[in-house]
Amino acid sequence: MSTLVFLEHHEGELQKGALGVLSNAVSLGNSEVAGVIAGSGVGALASEAGKFGAGKVWVADDPALEAPLPQPRVDVLAKIVRDGGYDTVLFGASVLAADVAAGLAARLDAGINWDLVDLVNENGRLVGKRPALGDSVYVDVGWKGEPRIGIVRSGTFEPSATGGEPEIAEAAVELEDFSIKATMVEQAHEEQAGPSIEDAEIIVAGGRGLGGPENFALVEDLAKALGGAVAATRAVVDAGWYPYSAQVGQTGKNVSPKLYVACGISGAIQHKVGMQSSNVIVAINKDANAPIFEFCDFGVVGDLHQVVPKLAELVRGRKGS
Ligand SMILES: Cc1cc2nc3c(=O)[nH]c(=O)nc-3n(C[C@H](O)[C@H](O)[C@H](O)COP(=O)(O)OP(=O)(O)OC[C@H]3O[C@@H](n4cnc5c(N)ncnc54)[C@H](O)[C@@H]3O)c2cc1C
Repeated sequence: MSTLVFLEHHEGELQKGALGVLSNAVSLGNSEVAGVIAGSGVGALASEAGKFGAGKVWVADDPALEAPLPQPRVDVLAKIVRDGGYDTVLFGASVLAADVAAGLAARLDAGINWDLVDLVNENGRLVGKRPALGDSVYVDVGWKGEPRIGIVRSGTFEPSATGGEPEIAEAAVELEDFSIKATMVEQAHEEQAGPSIEDAEIIVAGGRGLGGPENFALVEDLAKALGGAVAATRAVVDAGWYPYSAQVGQTGKNVSPKLYVACGISGAIQHKVGMQSSNVIVAINKDANAPIFEFCDFGVVGDLHQVVPKLAELVRGRKGS
């Protein structure tokens, strides 16, 4: 298998999700694992990709690739895949990656599997795993032809820096007329205090048990005391209590912090799949029969309005702040 990984970058940094996919591709024992970086002024990122196992890094560096728009990237990748003869193209899920992958699949008439939570090499055959039936089962998925295109669920693979200097190849930037029709009008950043949930080592998550949006202050306060980030269930995101960017689960983000404190969360399967790989899970729930107690490491049966502030106080006391 010769694999090409789309290395998404943002503000001068390669994205963790893409690097995780790269590390996984290397671990599968492919004959070649290359990365592609497309942007403007991005040459310096190539050697960084080498540290995560890319034997070769294609760099498409052109002002026309400055804005994170998908179609010009489809042109670049399609040419690299055709000229380089790659049989597999992998992406770490993101809004941009999903657009590029879909465009590439259409351009190359290739099969695409998305929402992958694992990739394995079964006697030289690439097999993907993905959740089905509301995340209650995992199924094996494959491809009928080449190139195979796969999008891996965010947060699935941890990047692993093994060191190495890649061969760097300049990629031709030949854009189709229709690919430069769209322009980026504005890019805005969501205001955020503290670490993002994808990067946080500690996460305190709030669910419907909080009773109302105003009670997220309890969760935020505990997260602050622990130096962690705040996450939420879909129930509270759908209710408008907290932003979607904080949602953990099947239709949100996958996280794997060292500590996950779930406050007023029932532990539905669709939430569980997004946080079950956390090192230590602590649940606070007033219902002793809540499903979350079946898979947490420590559980407190109690009213979160009493337990959470007490916990924050104890943490602060222990830290002496
Ligand atoms: C296709 C699909 C995709 C989905 N994707 C996601 C997803 O990505 N992420 C996600 O989270 N969900 C997702 N869901 C929804 C999921 O099924 C659950 O409905 C949701 O996770 C429940 O959220 P919750 O735990 O906050 O609320 P609830 O299930 O209502 O649980 C609230 C919990 O709080 C406890 N509680 C109440 N009051 C207190 C108190 N004072 N003190 C302590 N505990 C208290 C209750 O005992 C209860 O266990 C999805 C569903 C579907 C069908």
